[in-house]
Amino acid sequence: MKTLRSYIRGSWHEAKSGFVTLVDPSTEEEIARASSEGIDFGAALDYARERGGPALRALTFTQRAMLLKDMSKVLRDHRDELLDLSSRNTGTTRPDGSFDVDGASGTLAYYFSVGRGLGDRTFLAEGDGVQLAKTEGFWGRHVLVPRHGVAVHINAFNFPAWGFAEKAACALLAGMPVITKPATATAMVTERCIELIVDAGILPEGALQLIVGSTGDLLDRLGPQDVLAFTGSADTARSLRSRGNLLAANTRVNVEADSLNAAVLAPDVADGSATFGLFLKDVVREMTQKTGQKCTAVRRILVPTDRIDAVQEALVARLNEVVVGNPADPGVKMGPVATAQQLEDTLRGIGELQQAARIVHGSGQRADGAGAPAGKGFFVQPTLLRSNDARSVGAVHEREVFAPVATLLPYDGTAAEAVEIVALGGGTLVTSAYTDDAGWAGEFVSRGGGDTGRIYLGSEASAADAPGSGAALPQTLHGGPGRAGGGEELGGLVGVKLYLQRVAVQGSRSLVDELVGA
Ligand code: NAP
Repeated sequence: MKTLRSYIRGSWHEAKSGFVTLVDPSTEEEIARASSEGIDFGAALDYARERGGPALRALTFTQRAMLLKDMSKVLRDHRDELLDLSSRNTGTTRPDGSFDVDGASGTLAYYFSVGRGLGDRTFLAEGDGVQLAKTEGFWGRHVLVPRHGVAVHINAFNFPAWGFAEKAACALLAGMPVITKPATATAMVTERCIELIVDAGILPEGALQLIVGSTGDLLDRLGPQDVLAFTGSADTARSLRSRGNLLAANTRVNVEADSLNAAVLAPDVADGSATFGLFLKDVVREMTQKTGQKCTAVRRILVPTDRIDAVQEALVARLNEVVVGNPADPGVKMGPVATAQQLEDTLRGIGELQQAARIVHGSGQRADGAGAPAGKGFFVQPTLLRSNDARSVGAVHEREVFAPVATLLPYDGTAAEAVEIVALGGGTLVTSAYTDDAGWAGEFVSRGGGDTGRIYLGSEASAADAPGSGAALPQTLHGGPGRAGGGEELGGLVGVKLYLQRVAVQGSRSLVDELVGA
C-alpha cells in the first residue's frame, strides 16, 4: 500500500505513524495511507516566509504567470495518469475526473493569461489617481502589493486537483507562497500533482509545500500577513474562522462552504422548447456529475405548480438512464460517493429530507454498483424527492446532502415567489433560472441577486454553449453570501486580490505617477 508524503521545506516527508487509510470507493480496497506526523509546522511556515515569499515577490507578474503556464503544462502532460488516480481514489468516471483535472490545468492556464496581461511589474495600480489638494502637488492612488505572509489552502475532498490549482494560481500570481492541504481521504491526486510540479523544477524553493493529513499546530501560527483560504463544510469553516489567533491578528480568511443551490423553471418555458431541454439536461447533469459531490450542484428544483407533474416525469425518465457503478466499467455513467462517511451522511440526509418530502426516484438506501463486487462500494442511486409545499420543508432548505440528491418544489410562477423560496436556503453559490423572458429574468436578478454569488440564466440563445450551472469558470466569481461562506474566489483579478494588500499612496502627482509607471 502506498504511503503518501508531504512536501515540506524542499523535501518529501514520510510519516511513521498516525495513518489514515484511503480506499477505492468502488471496491473498498485499501489503496494508500496518509499522515502528517513529524512535520515541524513552524519551520514550514518560516521556510515559506523566508524563502518562497521573497523569491516570488522578486518576480514580475509576467514571470509569475510563466510559472503558472509551466504548472498547467505539466498537469496536462500527465492528464491520463491523473484521471486514473482520480477514478481510483475518488470514484470518478472519466468525464467527471476531467472536470477536476482539466479544470486544474485550465484554471492555471487562464491565470497565466491574466498575469501576462499585468506586465513587467511587481505590484499593481488600481483605479485612477485622484487630486487631493488644490494642485497636483498632493495626489492619491491605490496600489496592490503582495502580502508578506503565507497562503494556507485547505481544500474539500471533491476537487483534489482543481481545488489545489484554483487557489494556488491566484496566490502564486499575487506573489505569495502556498502551503496546500487536500482533504486526507482523496489526497492521492493532489500529492501526484505536487510531485509532478516539484519534479519539473518549476517553482522557486519554498513557493509550494504540501501537507497530507492533519495541519497540526499550523493554523495556531498564522498571523496578520497570512491568508487562510478554506473550502469545505460550513461546520468546519465556522470552527476555523473563529480561532482566537486569527481573530486577534485579523488574518484574512476566505471561506467557500456548502450551498443549497437552486434551479428555477420560469413559466414562459414551454414543453419541448430548447430552453426546456436545457433545463432538463442541466438539472440531471448538476444532480449526477461527480455523483452530486459538487458545491455548485443543484439541490432544489423550483417549477410552476401546474408543471410539476410533467417535470417530475421528464426528470425521472432521464435519471432512469443513469447507470451507477464502478467507473472502470465502460457502461457506468455515475460512480460512488467518495468515502464510507459520505455514504453514511448521504443516507442520513435523505432520511432527514423524507421528513418533509417523498422520494419519487431512488430508494434512499445503499445500492450495488455495476462492475463492482456485490455488497461493496459506496453507491447510491440518483435520488429525486418532491414536496407540494415549498416553504414548510425545513430540511430541504437547511440540509446539504452532498450526493446526487435534489428536491422538486412548486411555486406560483412569479419571480418574486421564486426568489423568496430560494432565499430560504440562506445564500447560494449559484442559482439558475431558465427563461426566455427578459422581463422575468430582470426581476429575478434584481430581487434575488443578493442571495447568491452567481446567477446562471439558461435560455434558447445559450442552449448550445452553456456549460451547466455547476461549472465554476475562472473568469467569473466563485463564492456566495451567507451559508455559502461569504467568500470570493476566481473572477479574474478578484481571486488574486485576496493575496494583495491595497495601499493608498499619497504624494505629489509626479512621484506617484512615476512609481506606478503611469
Ligand atoms: P470538511 O469535512 O469540512 O473538510 C474540508 C477540509 O478541511 C479537509 O481538507 C479537512 O481535512 C479539513 N479540516 C477539517 N477539520 C479541520 C481542522 N480542524 N483543521 C484544519 N483542517 C481541517 O468538508 P469535506 O467533507 O471535505 O467537503 C465537503 C464540503 O465542502 C461540502 O459541504 C461542500 O459543499 C463543500 N464544498 C464547497 C466548495 C465551495 O467552493 N464552496 C467546493 C467544494 C466543496 P481532513 O480531510 O484531513 O479532515
